[in-house]
This record gives sequence, structure tokens and C-alpha cells, in this order.
Amino acid sequence: MARIVMKFGGTSMAGTERIRRVASIVRAQAAPKPDGTRDSVAVVVSAMAGETDRLVNFCREANPLYDPAEYDVVVASGEQVTSGLLALTLQSLGCKARSWLGWQLPIQTIEAHAKARIDKIDAPGLIAAMEAGEIAVIPGFQGVSEDDRVTTLGRGGSDTSAVAVAAAIRADRCDIYTDVDGVYTTDPRIVAKAKKQKAVTYEEMLELASVGAKVLQTRSVGLAMKEGVRVQVLSSFIGEGAPPADDLPGTMIVSDAEMDELVENGLMERQLVTGIAHDKNEAKIILTRVPDRPGAVANIFEPLAAASINVDMIIQNVGRDKGETDVTFTVPQSDLARAQALLEDRRDAIGFNRIITDSKIAKISVVGVGMKSHAGVASTMFRSLSDRGINIQAISTSEIKVSVMIDEDETELAVRVLHTAYGLDAKD
Ligand code: ADP
Ligand code: ASP
Ligand code: MG
Repeated sequence: MARIVMKFGGTSMAGTERIRRVASIVRAQAAPKPDGTRDSVAVVVSAMAGETDRLVNFCREANPLYDPAEYDVVVASGEQVTSGLLALTLQSLGCKARSWLGWQLPIQTIEAHAKARIDKIDAPGLIAAMEAGEIAVIPGFQGVSEDDRVTTLGRGGSDTSAVAVAAAIRADRCDIYTDVDGVYTTDPRIVAKAKKQKAVTYEEMLELASVGAKVLQTRSVGLAMKEGVRVQVLSSFIGEGAPPADDLPGTMIVSDAEMDELVENGLMERQLVTGIAHDKNEAKIILTRVPDRPGAVANIFEPLAAASINVDMIIQNVGRDKGETDVTFTVPQSDLARAQALLEDRRDAIGFNRIITDSKIAKISVVGVGMKSHAGVASTMFRSLSDRGINIQAISTSEIKVSVMIDEDETELAVRVLHTAYGLDAKD
């Protein structure tokens, strides 16, 4: 008897009609196999598409400086609704099913409200119910804090709930059902010629997710890698009567060793670049005429770190005359106002002249493990963008990634140009 976790995202759960389709996919997975065995199944669900945004807006309207603990009470409700509705729909199809809310399992979390981390999940009760043939329906995104308050895991967090449940019950597979049929070389909604990948390594998926490929939440990939959870990304928009996903129709996230095996067996080609991602959610801050002396940048970034604001790209220009320099960096757009206020408060201590901000920027990243051993990936990127007149405002690199900051209006063009430049376009 295999244990399977199935996760359905917001578009898959958008309305009773879609939930009925989801219920039939779950029923097919839980049905007896030709050899008489059957899987035990846990389902993790998102709120209906658009619902979490709607709830977040209510919080903003109620109190712009909302208390994150009360925000969590509000936004966690979207998943409570869909978990109950899916359990009801499964029951209407003749399946045994019940919902398990975050506090009932419990899914114990630590750290800040609105971006809590899962610490542990109490699985024995869940496993017993599943083995007895009941389908467990778990709302994603939510947990409970050490002092028994409702928490949420940050946007896109249901992916992480699913992987954490899979790790806790030692599932044979964690299927992430969404509105595309796998992980592509880039967002298929931007590049029609993007190619679906049979497999992607954990390391590459982690990097792709962290630079904006929102198909999986970054934390879910990190957790899957650490716990060795087998993750498949696949579509819930499939025909009535489709077989269960045991023959792996989607994209598998695999270890380096499994990837080597796929390449040796001719099932995958070794690629220099695995994918291209974009992120429009960052904003640029420039501080002008910062003193060029030890401690100056520490004075800038310490208060941001203390306020849990993540800084991404950083450029410090070469010092000018009079021992001054400009410092440019990016923060999440949602933290821009807070970051600006913190820096203004410390204007004298830091000693800058002006603060200039710009949220109309985008980060475009090229990811691939092949870069570890091949030169030239970055220069191809710079040349292809310049051939189209796209100006690069900042650059950052890691062992398997090159990112550039450009004007937001040029995002789609840049992604398409790079997709072609690295030979990733599907042949028609
Ligand atoms: P869900 O609501 O199911 O969690 P998301 O909207 O969070 O779904 O993620 C799925 C979306 O991710 C797709 O609709 C697609 O536009 C986007 N996406 C971005 N990059 C990629 C990629 N490389 N491969 C597949 N999808 C991608
Ligand atoms: N509903 C939450 C969100 O929209 C969590 C999720 O769907 O993964 O961010
Ligand atoms: Mg998602």
C-alpha cells in the first residue's frame, strides 16, 4: 500500500465545479489498483484562486498596520473553506473523507506570524485514519503556533504544507497538481515555445523557485530536498476518467544521481541552462553619497536585517572623490515602504545624501547546473540583451545562476530573447 499526498492549487479549487473535478482525480488515485492493492491518500488544498488576495485586502482596509496574528486568523480561512468543501464533495462521490485543520493535526509552527515555519506535524492519528481507508483533506498554508494561535506560512505556502505532510507520513510521492502540466524551461504563459521537462534536480528547482518561478514555493523545494520527498508537478486540468498519476505524466524533481541515470538512459539531455525565471516583485533603492569607509554598509543593512527585510542584489560603486560612494540594492516590493522609512530614520547615522527608489524593475535569471563547468553563460546573456537594446542595471551570480536587473516593461521581451539565445525553444 503506497502513501500518496496530492496537493491542489487555487485555480484547481476555484469553485464547486472545479472541486468536483479534483474529487474525481482523488477518487481515482484512492481506488483499488488492478492487483487489488490501494493507496492511502492525503490531500492538501489551497484557497480558491483570488481568495487569499481578497482576504489580505480586507485586512489592509481594516487596519493598514495590521497585527500579523489577526491577519493569520483571516487569511487562513480560505483554506478552511476549500478543505471542508472537498471533503463534502468526496463524500458525495461515495468516498470516506474528513478534513483535518492545522490546529487539529496539529501542524506545529515556529517563528513569525504570516511567514511561519513548520516545526513538526503529529502524524500517527492521520496515518491511522488513512490506513483505515479514509481520505484525509488538509488545508494548506496554515498551522498553529507554540501558544496555540493560528499561523500561516507565507504566500504560496500550501506547496510547503504538502511536502511537510509527505515527509511526516513518509509518503511514497507528493503530487503537486496545478494549472500547468509540469515544470517548463520558463513560464509557459510568457513563452509559447517553452518546453516541459521530464525531470529537474532539487538544486535547480530550488534556485528557479527562489528567483521567481512560482510553480513551487521555494521552501517546499528546500524541504523536499532535505527530507528526500519525491515530488511530481502535474496538471489537474485533465480529462474525466484519466488514470492515476503513478506513471508520472508530470515533471519529477530528482536527485543529481537520478538525473545522471536519466541522461545515461537517453531519457534526458544534459543541458547547460535548465530554465529562465523572472521576478517583478522586487524594488530598487539607491542611497547616494554614502561615506566610503569601513562600517558604512553595515550601518545600512543591519537595521533592514533586524526588521526581517531580505536584501537581494547589492552594488557598491567605486568610491568617488571626497571619499563618497553610491549604494544600490533590492528589497521585496512589499517591504519597500518599511525599508525606506527605516533608512530615512537613520539618515544621519548612515550619512547618505538622497534616497531614490524604483519599483518598476524586474529580475531575470538564467539557471543551470551546467554552469558550474562551462564558461560563457553570462556573456551570452549580456550580449543577447544588448542586441535588443535592453539595459542591465545590476548583475548578481551564484554557482548555478546569473541574474540581471532590468526595466520592468522589458521583462517579457528579455525572457523570450534569452529562451531563444540558449537554444531552449521547442521545435514546432
Ligand atoms: P497554484 O495555484 O496551483 O499553486 P501557481 O500559480 O502558484 O499555481 O503556480 C503555477 C504557475 O507557475 C503557472 O500557471 C505558471 O504561469 C507559473 N510558472 C512560472 N514559471 C514556471 C515554469 N518554469 N514552469 C511552469 N510554470 C511556471
Ligand atoms: N492560498 C495561499 C496563497 O494564495 C497559499 C497557497 O495557495 O499556496 O498564497
Ligand atoms: Mg502556488
